Amino acid sequence: MKYITLADHAVRTYAPDKIFTASQKAKADIAGLGEDAVINSTLGECIDDEGKLMVLPTVEKMLRSMPVEEMCSYAPIAGIPGFNEAVQISLFGEISKRFHVESVPTPGGCGALRHAVWNFLDNGDAMLTTDWFWGPYRNICEEHGRFLKSFEMFNDQNTFHIEAMDKAVGELLSQQKQLLLALNTPANNPTGYSMTKEEMDQVIAVLRRYALEYPDKKLTLCLDASYIDFDAGFCESREIFESIHDMPENMMVLVIFSMSKSYTMCGMRCGAFVCLGETAEAAQEFKAAMSYSSRSVWSNVIRSAQRVLVDINLNPEVKAQVDQERLEFSNLISKRGKAFYHEAGRIGLSCCPYKHGYFIAVPCENPDKVAEYLCRKHVYVVPQAKGLRFSPCAVTMEKCLRAPELIKEAIQNVGD
Ligand code: PLP
Repeated sequence: MKYITLADHAVRTYAPDKIFTASQKAKADIAGLGEDAVINSTLGECIDDEGKLMVLPTVEKMLRSMPVEEMCSYAPIAGIPGFNEAVQISLFGEISKRFHVESVPTPGGCGALRHAVWNFLDNGDAMLTTDWFWGPYRNICEEHGRFLKSFEMFNDQNTFHIEAMDKAVGELLSQQKQLLLALNTPANNPTGYSMTKEEMDQVIAVLRRYALEYPDKKLTLCLDASYIDFDAGFCESREIFESIHDMPENMMVLVIFSMSKSYTMCGMRCGAFVCLGETAEAAQEFKAAMSYSSRSVWSNVIRSAQRVLVDINLNPEVKAQVDQERLEFSNLISKRGKAFYHEAGRIGLSCCPYKHGYFIAVPCENPDKVAEYLCRKHVYVVPQAKGLRFSPCAVTMEKCLRAPELIKEAIQNVGD
């Protein structure tokens, strides 16, 4: 108690972030044994076959040639001129013709998630998501006096479990005035699953049904599309947006947009919280409320990253160049992921259904123990509630092919 003046709600143990802890251990191991002897599949950053962080060359050039005033001066709270247009072009390939889109810059997708949890739920409410989810979802909820509830992500066909979602939505709506459903797709973290257009049609149909059944409740679907540019091709990955139409007045769809992945700028902390409004009035109301929140939490968001986003997307030639550079990155990561997935299949190690992206999940009992066992074999993965997360984005093809056998052996040995 000595000299501790924290308020009651702030007294809590901080379990070191599992991802960063595993990564630190792996780095220490590499320092002792060398790169080749260790498989460090922990962080969600793209690393090339020489062990270097992959940064889009055009982004690097733009950052290095940026005038210092552009880097250091304040940006407007609601984004620099062109920000909202640039977000739409990045997400949809054009200024949206179907929605009234408003967006606010946020410190990464994390900031956007924070705004969602704070502004679209009441104190003590729960946000709903799939049972395979990115760990910080829970922290962000709890930091803001909310909770996290989940439903089974996959059915026995290994496709999206719409019935489980339907049931969980119904249960939450019987307890809360509003629903916030977060779905991380395409290229879900930690599974690499991408929902199909048909699955998204079903999600919208379920929400529409509940919205009509409970006209006095509010339903928000928050699509965490942080990995959208590491999915299948542009058109296929955007098909999920086609599902969003004819929403009742008590329903809204929001999108989490991250520059960490699409522009390889993880450390520059920029993203956006985006509203796909059915009316201009709804979109304006969103922007005003989120701007209030931004001003009260982080004020404005890093200007240089916004500059990069605008200068790429408002210039078709530069955009085409960046799209080509990114495609090469994304192809490499998916090739590694598929190599792991096929090798796992060949040797009988079962994985969650991987489609694209940075991560693959391997279900198992005792994930913490299996991860510890793997550390002793110099393989570093991230334990999750229901299994292990492996990151093809961070390891070479050769290691993606080598890892499944080691993981299978670890699961068997810990199980025994
Ligand atoms: N959503 C998911 C599912 C993520 O995995 C991440 C980052 O790893 C984010 C959102 C937010 O990323 P950032 O804040 O770096 O944009």
